[in-house]
Amino acid sequence: MLDTNPPVIEIRDLHKSYGELEVLKGVDLVAPRGHVVALIGSSGSGKSTLLRCANLLEESQRGEIFFEGEPIQWRGEGAGRHPADRAQVTRIRTNLSMVFQQFNLWAHMTILENVMEAPVTVLKRDRAEVEERARHYLDKVGIGDKADAWPAQLSGGQQQRAAIARALCMEPRALLFDEPTSALDPELEQEVVKVIKDLATEGRTMIIVTHDMRLAADVADHVIFLHLGKIEEEGPPEAVFGNPQTERLRQFLSATA
Ligand code: ADP
Ligand code: MG
Repeated sequence: MLDTNPPVIEIRDLHKSYGELEVLKGVDLVAPRGHVVALIGSSGSGKSTLLRCANLLEESQRGEIFFEGEPIQWRGEGAGRHPADRAQVTRIRTNLSMVFQQFNLWAHMTILENVMEAPVTVLKRDRAEVEERARHYLDKVGIGDKADAWPAQLSGGQQQRAAIARALCMEPRALLFDEPTSALDPELEQEVVKVIKDLATEGRTMIIVTHDMRLAADVADHVIFLHLGKIEEEGPPEAVFGNPQTERLRQFLSATA
């Protein structure tokens, strides 16, 4: 059936510089509802920057970003460009939950408190309702029994699953993952991969930066290969991994194999 919903995220011709260094040189990205987009590329190619620009953690100097069809309002131009509407920024950021490589759990809060924190303090949701939802998502990622533990008492894989539960508890429109398995030992990596695969099967909209080509091949509807701030090649995983067109992508894939 034709999907008439606007994409959750659409980025057009995005340019981003840090001072003199141009890190994104005109990048497009579309994440339709229910789709998974994987971002691959060498270290320094701009993957994290693109993800951070998408949820407005970073500013960009040129190009457009749409959230569910709604354009981000900007004020000023070029290096002086900023989002014009703080309420819009907050609304979009809380609807695009990030999961980071280093989990970023609050060490002084229990796992349950970590998961409940943003819905209660940012979204001002009812505490009892949030607790119920938090316990549901902790069960879902397989650590319901760790609700009262401290982050330091959990393995890396369990901490990352708690971070995913925390992102889910915001009930976002999309999840953005930045190398979610890179800090984990191989045996712990798989428990996080399984959770991400389950989320993809459920039809969650996700953008996943990953060095794990198998994960990208398994879950992505669309793969984008970034090289030095530009899209060098993109397409469905079968094409990108099975029949790469550019020498750069072929080299990248043989180096990561
Ligand atoms: P990736 O995630 O693909 O490894 P990044 O988006 O982190 O790449 O970085 C892209 C480029 O931007 C790199 O050259 C990096 O050094 C530079 N960069 C990233 N963050 C900053 C920053 N806060 N200030 C200056 N340069 C940065
Ligand atoms: Mg990165």
